[in-house]
Amino acid sequence: MSVPFVDLQSQYQEYKQEIDTKIHQVLDSSSYIMGQEVKELEENLSGYTGSNHAIACSSGTDALLLALMSIGIQPGDEVITTPFTFIATAEAIAFLGAKPVFVDIEQDSFNINAAQIEQAVTDKTKAIIPVSLFGQPADMDEINEIAEKNGLLVIEDAAQSFGAEYKGRKSCNLSTIACTSFFPAKPLGCYGDGGAVFTSDSDVAKKIRILLNHGQNERYKHKYIGINGRLDALQAAVLNVKLQYFDKEVQKRNEIAKRYDNALEDTVLTPVLKPERSSVYAQYCVKSQKREDILEKLKKNGIPFAVYYPIPLHMQECFEGIGYKPGEFPVSEKVAKEIFALPMSAFLSIEDQDKVMKVMQEQ
Ligand SMILES: *Cc1c(COP(=O)(O)O)cnc(C)c1O
Repeated sequence: MSVPFVDLQSQYQEYKQEIDTKIHQVLDSSSYIMGQEVKELEENLSGYTGSNHAIACSSGTDALLLALMSIGIQPGDEVITTPFTFIATAEAIAFLGAKPVFVDIEQDSFNINAAQIEQAVTDKTKAIIPVSLFGQPADMDEINEIAEKNGLLVIEDAAQSFGAEYKGRKSCNLSTIACTSFFPAKPLGCYGDGGAVFTSDSDVAKKIRILLNHGQNERYKHKYIGINGRLDALQAAVLNVKLQYFDKEVQKRNEIAKRYDNALEDTVLTPVLKPERSSVYAQYCVKSQKREDILEKLKKNGIPFAVYYPIPLHMQECFEGIGYKPGEFPVSEKVAKEIFALPMSAFLSIEDQDKVMKVMQEQ
């Protein structure tokens, strides 16, 4: 058997009975969109993160879109974020006609460099979206402070960091708004698309609930222009089962990361955790100037890998219109050339971990 990059099959086998039962309950109920399972999920998510409001929605991308819509982001506005993230972060900003304003990252944590944010603020800036990349929270205290000083809102893109901690608090509860994703390969994944918005602000929560249902506040009365951003009951049912075992899985991911760290620290630059925070290792990413040689070797030995992210967002064709040039975010550009991810999931067997480490150590 080849080493799985993310082992969703073993996870399903482990929880199969409970998941199958729950899925059949939903099928028997004939209530497929929102409903009791979704309500339960929202309570569970709120309880887990400590956030006042958790609103389940259709994906992580829609969570970001809903968050930006709820604070009235519109053409002409600017939103500060990182160029070293999945496209969705900046896509949601641009989709609303606003301008993603990029700020470079730190070379060790790969998260936005908080010290460079303030110089990017203009009178058009409305919000900051730090991404807690690969599972490690960004410098949320520093970012919240800059936001407060400049009258901006902070939306944590926690698509990869659900479950991580920062100064004793959970990711998704570190800023006024946060968004996460339940895409199958994320640390907490469902069996399709899913996401959630978290907020401490009751007005934002109320507005998001309306926006995700076509802006409808009463049946066929539409207060805002919204979207279809609802979550399926089937996805909520899967998540309600998986959430019970999630902390155990996070612990396993951390144990695997520790084993990788110890085995690989002389071969590549292993992930750096900043003080007072934990990671859920959505990805286990390492850096090497000899990346291409290493990837070749992994390929030859049947070890799967991935590169997150090969092209920083300011160099993507879709953002050409903004006018950024290569060279503007040197840290992101350098990291993009050196970074790669190794197999990681809670059900990665010791034997498979050993196989990965052995090939890596032979460099
Ligand atoms: C996965 C991801 C998203 C989007 O989530 P989807 O559920 O796939 O729409 C947004 N931001 C980041 C950083 C992600 O990793």
